[in-house]
Order: sequence, then structure tokens, then C-alpha cells
Amino acid sequence: MPGADRAGTPQPGDLALVVAGRKLLTGAEGFPRVAELPADTAWVPLGTLDGVPAWGAELAGEEAHPGRWRSWRALAAELPAPLADLAGRALAVLTWRRTHRWCGACRAELADVPGEQSRRCPDCGLYVPMQLSAAVLVAITRPGPAGSPDELLLVRHADGPAELWALVAGYVEAGESLEAAARREVGEEVGLTLDQVSYFGSQPWAVSGPGVLLAGFTATAADPAAEPVVDGRELVQARWFPLDALPAELPSAYSISRWLVDHVAARPAG
Ligand SMILES: [Zn+2]
Repeated sequence: MPGADRAGTPQPGDLALVVAGRKLLTGAEGFPRVAELPADTAWVPLGTLDGVPAWGAELAGEEAHPGRWRSWRALAAELPAPLADLAGRALAVLTWRRTHRWCGACRAELADVPGEQSRRCPDCGLYVPMQLSAAVLVAITRPGPAGSPDELLLVRHADGPAELWALVAGYVEAGESLEAAARREVGEEVGLTLDQVSYFGSQPWAVSGPGVLLAGFTATAADPAAEPVVDGRELVQARWFPLDALPAELPSAYSISRWLVDHVAARPAG
């Protein structure tokens, strides 16, 4: 449950989300407790998990505190979803605070707005809320040859892990709906036109930068005979895979990409 109530003070048994760069400090049971960190730690309220307050703090480096430091991607693969989401929130909030210290209009130092994850400029009044970047992912299918299962379009990104087969994805532009972004990204990246664009679900995502919200869609190719054409810049490969013969190199289990692929693969044929 996100929150930014600064009225309370951290208690020894509260959850402690400690960040250094892109890594989080882990303890015996997921995350340490406030009592395990130095008394002068500067805590930021993150909200509550099952009624237990959670506090975040950013250290200058991993060497500032001994312990096991791990990436969000590694944690999210192992922890229950609520703890993985909390870890992502901690990374997002603390990174936002570090990178939004000064007013972008007049250069004064911003001040926290009580009870909110936002800051305001004391000189010119500029309001700086913590903003999210929305991105879309699309699982595109088409009918397979007669008597065969449907096919799913998977792509390989120039930037990502070379072997990973993923979904077409991209950031939403200002003034654009999620659905329009899905259609545009697919058009730009693989040259296909979509039909039956349907919302699937969303996931806060802490790997590709703090404050990213992924929205997943299913869709069908408007022209079942159309083949994908990659731009060679963002994408290096795009291929139709029969749903009963998907590659092994799919996105990790705790990702909306994988949930979409599994959802589509589990659909009855036809
Ligand atoms: Zn200002």
C-alpha cells in the first residue's frame, strides 16, 4: 500500500528497503528491519506491507553497509509478488528523490510536500510530482496453417540479452493513449497493422529505469499473411512461433511479458 506519511517515526521492527545505486540490501527473510541499520539513517516513508510500515533509505555505496546486495531483477525472480513490488517502489522513490533535488525552472532546492511523494519549489512554486513512464507490450498472434495452432510474434532487441525472445514494447508518447501507443510501436518496429487490441494487465517495472509502468495488450495481425520487417536498430529479429513450439529463451517468470506469453499459449486453439 503506497504512502508518504512522514508523521510517524520508523520503529525497530518496520521493514527497511535500503538502496545503493541499482541494488537493494537483503536480509535473512527478504529485507532487513529498521533496527538492523544505523540509528542516524535518513528514512523515507514508502507505505505499508500487510500493515507493517516500510521505510526506504539510500546509501552512498554498497560498502557503506555490510550485507547481501542484489538487483531488483534477481529479487523479483525469487520473492513473493508484494515484496518484489515493494522493492521496485523503493528503487523508484529513492532514485526519484536523488535525481529531483533542484527546481528545473529556477534552480532553487526543492522541498518535500508533506504526505506526498512530490516536491515543490519554495521560490517559484513549481510542483514536481513523482512521475511514471508508461510503456506498452503487445502479444500479437495470427492463425497458423490449417490444422495447426495459432502463431505468436516474438522479437529480439538490439539492447537486451541477445538470446532472449521478447514482445514488441515501447514507451507511450505524450498525448497518446495506451492502445494508440501499442499500434504505433508495432507499426514502427515490425511493420504490422493490428486488429482486436485488447488490454491484458499491468505491472510496475524496476529494471529499465525507476518509475516505469508496463501495460500489456493482446492483439491479432490485421493481415494474417503479413511478415514482420525489423528496423535493424531497435530490433534485430522478429519471427512467428507456433504456440506449441515456443522458444526456451522467454522473459523471466515475474514479468508481464511472460504472463502475456503464457496467457496466449494457454488459450484454446482457434
Ligand atoms: Zn523554482
